[in-house]
Amino acid sequence: MAVGGLKDFATGLVNPTLRLGVTGLSRAGKTVFITALLHALLKGARLPLFEAGHHITRAYLEPQPNDDLPRFAYEDHLAKLTSADRSWPESTKRISQLRLTLEYAPRGLFARNFKSGKLHIDIVDYPGEWLLDLPLLRMTYRQWSLETVAASSRKPRAGLAAPWQRHLATLDPMAPADEVEVVKAADLFTQYLAACRRDDVSLSTLPPGHFLMPGDLAGSPLLTFAPLALAADQSYARGSLGELMERRYNSYVAKLVRPFFFDHFARLDRQIVLVDVLTALNAGAAAVQDLKNALTGIMACFRLGSNSLVSELFGRRIDRILFAATKADLLHQTSHDRLENILRVIVEEACVRAEFSGAKIEVAALAAIRATREAQVSQKGESLPCIAGIPQAGEIMGETSFDGSREAAIFPGDLPETAKLALDGTLQGQLKFLRFRPPVLKEGTFPHIRLDRTLDFLLGDRFS
Ligand code: GDP
Repeated sequence: MAVGGLKDFATGLVNPTLRLGVTGLSRAGKTVFITALLHALLKGARLPLFEAGHHITRAYLEPQPNDDLPRFAYEDHLAKLTSADRSWPESTKRISQLRLTLEYAPRGLFARNFKSGKLHIDIVDYPGEWLLDLPLLRMTYRQWSLETVAASSRKPRAGLAAPWQRHLATLDPMAPADEVEVVKAADLFTQYLAACRRDDVSLSTLPPGHFLMPGDLAGSPLLTFAPLALAADQSYARGSLGELMERRYNSYVAKLVRPFFFDHFARLDRQIVLVDVLTALNAGAAAVQDLKNALTGIMACFRLGSNSLVSELFGRRIDRILFAATKADLLHQTSHDRLENILRVIVEEACVRAEFSGAKIEVAALAAIRATREAQVSQKGESLPCIAGIPQAGEIMGETSFDGSREAAIFPGDLPETAKLALDGTLQGQLKFLRFRPPVLKEGTFPHIRLDRTLDFLLGDRFS
């Protein structure tokens, strides 16, 4: 049984509990998704395709079940979305959790013979960057250094890595350890990782995951190390720079990576992985390839089988995984199925590459909060499928700069019918995205795209 399993099992006997992991790389849409999911269930939003949801009689938040996890700041996030200036909430920076309890009327033929039911859903929000640290559990500092330096020499990383690499060339791993040099190396290395994550580059595989998502540990010695160039068979002298870097790396793995996988990840039952496919498509072929690599890495965390690290460490647990392309409202509805198909192709490839077996997998395109509506605009006698919404203040398109108060209709571009055509980089710079302000509540709930289908896959079978 997985770590923590016995305790969970005992609580599960009293009332069934489902631990739902919500992850994705930074800006994928985790905070918005969780806030929208909670709001929809708490306010009884219209969710036609979430059939089981029609039987919910009461939904409420309960105190945190785990004392070692911060609470997901639902009320703060909602307050921002619904405030007079309607802004998006602050993104996920660390792991957090919230317990939602649903009471429901019994269903089915013999419904009258059964008591009503209760389901606790523990939603666990965590940065997807942390999943990409799984391979570090089995990598030495030397192996990680070699791999990271080699990757940074290839395009498009090479240019972005230049300032860090110039500093790296000045370091002698055998020289006495100097904290100032270590801090500088870690800073430049982190800046390189951050540059790879910019929207126009949009690379995804950038471990160690806590460097870009430090949680409360920014500036800690646990995050103050960087790769060094040294042949794999050399060993570091005592008191040397290399020895200090190696020790910090080992502490990072022992104190951050291991506990995350053993104490939190291992206890999840279901998982949704949010993916910002659109930004990667717009950034070009290298970004798409890197996204594929990241999803392969993420898939490896869920893989079960005889020679898998995950089976060995955690045993079987997660039985359903949903991969969801977020922000579908930035495209006209004619492209929603296409977006879903593009993600399906990426996920299928990742499944093959990660030799995945285990959980049931599904793919969706969704907008947890729909900030736009459909519009048709005629241009030169042609009717274009557009989207309309209020662009955030400061957004610019062509000659127009928006002030956050006017609605605008734009043609965002459309996705090709064949998914494979979208994946070769030809969409680079072709899609036009603006950041739109969150919408006004309609009848007390947020508009969405396919949130109901998403809930049906993740929760639908647990109401009996
Ligand atoms: P996180 O880093 O994964 O927690 O990402 P967030 O949930 O904070 O989302 C990042 C940004 O993406 C938000 O600030 C919004 O600008 C945008 N976003 C997220 N979800 C949606 C959505 O459903 N529709 C639209 N239009 N934008 C979204």
